[in-house]
This record gives sequence, C-alpha cells and structure tokens, in this order.
Amino acid sequence: MHVEHRPWLDATRPVPERVEALMAQMTLEEKVGQTHQVANIHPDDDAELLRQGSIGSSLFASGATGGNERDEGVLAHNIDAAQRHAVEDSRLGIPVLFGRDVIHGHRTVFPIPLGLAAAWDEELAEQAGEIAAHEAVVDGVAWTFAPMVDLSEEPRWGRVAESLGETPVLSGRLAAALVRGFQGDVPGHPDRIAACAKHFAGYGLAAGGRDYDTVSVGENTLRNLHLRPFKAAVDAGVTTVMAAFNDVDGIPMHAHRHLLRDVLKGEWGFEGLVVADWNGVGQLVNEGVAADLRDAARQAIEAGVDLDMCSGGYSAHLADLVRDGVVAEKLVDDAVRRILTVKFRLGLFERPYAGEPTRSNAPTEQTRSVARRAAHAAHVLVSNNGVLPLGPDCGTVHLSGPFAEEGEALLGTWTLDGRGEDVVSPAAAFRERLGNERLLVSDGRFSDRSVQQVRNADVTVAVVGEHSWRSGEANSVSDIGLPAGQLDALRQLARLGKPLVAVVYTGRPLELGDVMDLADAVVVVWHPGIEAGNALADIVFGDVSPHGRLPMTFPLTTGHIPTSTHQRPTGRLIERHEDTRLGRYLDDLVFPRLPFGHGLTYTTFDYGPPRLSAPQLARSGGSVQLEVDVTNTGDRAGREVVQLYFRDPVAEVTRPLVELTDWAVLDLGPGDTGTAEFTVTAEQFAYFGRDNTARVDAGEIVLQVGPDALTGARTTVIVTT
Ligand code: BGC
Repeated sequence: MHVEHRPWLDATRPVPERVEALMAQMTLEEKVGQTHQVANIHPDDDAELLRQGSIGSSLFASGATGGNERDEGVLAHNIDAAQRHAVEDSRLGIPVLFGRDVIHGHRTVFPIPLGLAAAWDEELAEQAGEIAAHEAVVDGVAWTFAPMVDLSEEPRWGRVAESLGETPVLSGRLAAALVRGFQGDVPGHPDRIAACAKHFAGYGLAAGGRDYDTVSVGENTLRNLHLRPFKAAVDAGVTTVMAAFNDVDGIPMHAHRHLLRDVLKGEWGFEGLVVADWNGVGQLVNEGVAADLRDAARQAIEAGVDLDMCSGGYSAHLADLVRDGVVAEKLVDDAVRRILTVKFRLGLFERPYAGEPTRSNAPTEQTRSVARRAAHAAHVLVSNNGVLPLGPDCGTVHLSGPFAEEGEALLGTWTLDGRGEDVVSPAAAFRERLGNERLLVSDGRFSDRSVQQVRNADVTVAVVGEHSWRSGEANSVSDIGLPAGQLDALRQLARLGKPLVAVVYTGRPLELGDVMDLADAVVVVWHPGIEAGNALADIVFGDVSPHGRLPMTFPLTTGHIPTSTHQRPTGRLIERHEDTRLGRYLDDLVFPRLPFGHGLTYTTFDYGPPRLSAPQLARSGGSVQLEVDVTNTGDRAGREVVQLYFRDPVAEVTRPLVELTDWAVLDLGPGDTGTAEFTVTAEQFAYFGRDNTARVDAGEIVLQVGPDALTGARTTVIVTT
C-alpha cells in the first residue's frame, strides 16, 4: 500500500504526526496488540497473530528451519521471517520491535558492566555501547535491555555483576555514556539500537541480597540515591525504562503509579516507553496485590507500564477492561503512543528487516582492541608487595587454577551471543609470551604434579574466583568467600614459598582478606570478556599499568554486609568507620576490606593540598574551582583516578558521611606533576529534603579529594544564601 493510504509512512513528517495518523486508523484490538510482548516469536506458529497485528514486540525469534539462533545469520533470518508477516500481511503493517539482552557486548564481549565501571571512563563505555549496537543490528535486534543502573551495595546479590556499582554519580555518568553509545545522537541511525534503563526502582535493595526479594526503602532514600542514575539515563535520552520485579515498601513496582506515573513520566518528563520485566504484570497476582491476571493488567496499565513483557495479561484483558469501562481508553492510547514513537524513532517503518547480512558481526581486530582496553581497565590491583609486574627475566611461570585454560567462564553473565571460542584464555596469552618452555599450567587442584610444577617455577600466577554462572540473575550467594577449595589451594601454594600472584575473576565483591595475606599481589578482574587472557598478560608482564578502581566496596566478611559508602551518621556514629564499639559488632570493627574507589598502579602518587578558587559559592548557580596537584613519585608511568567526595554536615535529613561527586583522570610519567581540576557547583550538593523536594542548603560543605572513599585531604567550602 502506498503513502497516500498510509500517511504515517511518510518519513518526512514529524514523528508525533505519524503516530497520530497511524493511531487514528487503529482498532482497540490493534492498539492492545502493540502493548503485547511475546517471549519468542515463530514465523509459522505466530503468523496469524502477526497478520492480525496482535504482537507488538518480541524477545527471541525461533525459525521454521529450527537452526541454532547463535549460528551466523540465523537470528536475523528468523526475525525477518516473522517481521514479514507483520509488515506485509497485516492491515496496518506495523513492524514488531525486537528486543534482546545485549548487556556487555553482543559478539564482541566486553567486561561485565561492573568491570566496565572499574574503568571510570565514560568514553570507553560509550564506545563499548556503540560497538554492541553495531553488532546487534546485524542480527535484527533493535532494542537492548541495558544499561542496568540499579545501585549495588550488596555483594550477595548476583546481579551486582550487571550493575555500574554503588554510587549514583559513577553509575549515572556511565549509564548516560552507555545510552549514548547504544542509541547514538540521531534518532533512527541505522547502526544504533534503543536502550533501556532498568530496573526501576530499588531492585538492588532486595532483602538479604536474595534476588527477587522484597524491598523496604523510603522515598527519600530512593530519591537521594537509587533514582539518580535513572534520572541521568533519562536526561541522556534513554528511550525505554524497565519496571523492577520488587515492591517498594509494600507496593510492587509494576503497580507503582506514584513512581512510574508521577515521578518518572510526570516530574521527569520521560516520554519513552515503560516495559514490564519478565511476567512482572502476572507476578502482581503472586505478590498478593491482584486477584487475577485481569486485575493485574488493570493495575499495571494504570500505574504506567506500557508494554507487557510475556505475561499475556494485556493481550488477554485490556480490550475487555476498556469495553467494560474499567480502564480508560486514553491509558491504552498513551501506552500505544509511546510504543509507536519508539518504533518510528528507530526507523523501523523505513527499515523493518535486518536484511541479508551484509557484514559479519564477529569480533574484528578493531573491536578486539577496544575490548582489550576495556579489559585492562577491569583489572584492579588491590595489593602488591612489588612482585608485579613480572619482568622479562621472571623465569618460569606456573599458571594455576580453574580458569587457566578457560574461555566461556570469563565471558561473564548475560552473554546470549558471546562465544567461548572467541575468548583468549589466560594460558593461551601466557603461552604466546613465554613459549612452552617457560610456562607450566595446572588446573589448581593440588597433586604431586602441581607441587612439582610450583617447585620448578619461579613464580605462580593463580587464577581463581567465580565462574560466570555464579553471578547474574537469580544467582545470589549466602557467603562471599571464594568458592570451595580455592582458599586451601592458595594456602598450599603459598606454603611452598615461591612468589604468588592471585588473580580473582568474579562477578561480585568477594571476601579477600586471607587471599591478600597469602599472596604477594592480588588483582581483581571481574569477568573480562573475550580479551581476558591478553589483558591479563599485558598487566602481569607490565606492558600496561593497572588503573581500574573498585566500583563497589569489598566488605571484610559476609557478616559485615552492608558496608555501603553511603553510610549515614547516627546519634552515636559521626565519623565514617570510627574506631568505636557503639553501633558496631562486639567481635569486629566495620572497616571495609577494600574501600570504594581503591586501586593501585605500578607507581605511586603524592597529593598536594586541595586549593579552592574562593572560600564560598552562591547557593543558586554558584561554583568554585578546586585543584589538587598530583605527582608521580615512582619510576613508571601510571594513571591516577583522582576522586572528589563531599559531606553535608547539617541538612534536613541524614546525609551520607561521604559521597562521590566527581573524578578526574591523570596520566603521569615518572616524576611528573599534574593538576586535577574540578568545577564544584552548588547544584552538586542538592538533595531531597523532608518533603522530598530538591534543595540546596546554605552552610558548610566538607570536600575530600584523594585516591579512594576513605583516604584524602579535606577542605571546606561555604554555600551562601
Ligand atoms: C530480567 C531482565 C531481562 C529480562 C529479559 C528478566 O528476568 O530481570 O533484566 O531484561 O528478563 O530477558
């Protein structure tokens, strides 16, 4: 059919006009069809539904040929086959929106988001997002369910691996960078995809770190911490937001009208679509707030959930709810308007098909080099007595542990399209450098052979930690110690007296005290993706100086959780990690094992005193410059991440004892001095007061600048009225 009959196909018209033109033609059933997302589409089985316009979106696509979705071209082929029914055989020809969890790369797998966050590098995050988008569109994917921006303070929760850490500023800035990377600046760019900020909101606070558990949090804490990265993503233009599985203080998020409609869509002016999480609408019944699926659908559409992921509640009941006068049709219209707007903005009406693959989306030299840089940054050197880097005359290396020859295990959680065979294992990369003569490899199980290997080697590099499968969705743990047996193996290695380097692959902060006592150096690497081995070799042999910084606090033990950076003062605790027993455990202090922001390099840095351009700044729109000189006092080049924290000592509500507000990166050669410069604005001290509105108070603010959340020189600045 031609444009005269379908004015919405005229790409020269503004999107809102095209949306209205199309909606004017739609029946109630067709509108409801747009709000229905299926788990998996099948071109034959679903042909009739597609022709009727009853499916608006899908996550997976299986094919008539039954080919493996992961084989080259199969996903695109399946998607196109289904899409053809929607576009060519349905009355209005509305394309289906294909979403997928492209979380940290598509074919080129980057470090898990928590590892990417350790880079503190917005440009790198944006590049990773862009490469992921380029590769995903080849497979017909138009939308990713990323970035996850839930603040993560709870190491037992498996999904911290998918997060950007525990602070609103780092998470928010990296989330915005990822959104720019996925989506690009221009709507409808053929090589970009829609992003999704998830899971709105408070999901990271699941009780006890148990995935899907309930959340007890008040609106003030939500606003002052957990909503902020979502706001940053919305300000960066994120097209979609996903509702969270949890409740917030008794109200499940899929029915949370206040947070979804009043705050997100109202106060923040979010114009994109809100997607349910998997069966999140249906789960309102399990949560005991809806009598049945029909009631759940009513509550969710009223709350502002636009697209129903996989529950079938909208598809089964929305039309009747409208006809029965229970749900106002304008609510359905609002949802459909948002969904269609996303489809038009993506250019889906112009380019509904992936088409015959014109290029491969397998990792290339260029994408690998970005993945390698990102993996370098995921290496956080947490302790080192000088054993690292290993010099050219390090002799024979014993590479030991369950991950020495691994690929798949180092990809990280949520890698639907990543392949184990694309991963360079630690052993492969070490072998390339050392040859077989100077490398001994063992799987870390203690045997006569491995004892002999240690004896024959000059140094042992033990690659321990968690398999990818131990983190991610539904993979919570009750104990953040190393997996069974690994600590014993390290003890035995250490007993043999050779220098020992421990490399810890992980999706979460682990209990590392004993490991740090046993090993001469410890490197936390998260799950680094396809360039795992190369990046490790670059760091261990000193071609690259480690520069990653922890995006989450590492507690002393499981029993010390939570140890958030955002601890607030109490009546009896006014200094962070005070050496006091008040409000503390009888048997231990509550210092973190490793503070947020911690990370060593192969050199050392000295900080000068912070300098302020003025002692005060105006509450409304004021700013001052803060500078600090940093000198590289070692004999190697290195990168310092200079971190700026603040504390507001008197406010309407209890405020964190320390909160990250900015950072600057300095690359310094040996002996060089550089200056970290910060523009400090009064706006940075804004918070939500007792009435949950934003405010900046007049008064003193303590600024702290240094290499991590615990260490640093302080100065004060006065905010004037
Ligand atoms: C997860 C989401 C994910 C969705 C689709 C859910 O179980 O919570 O993060 O995007 O599945 O795969």
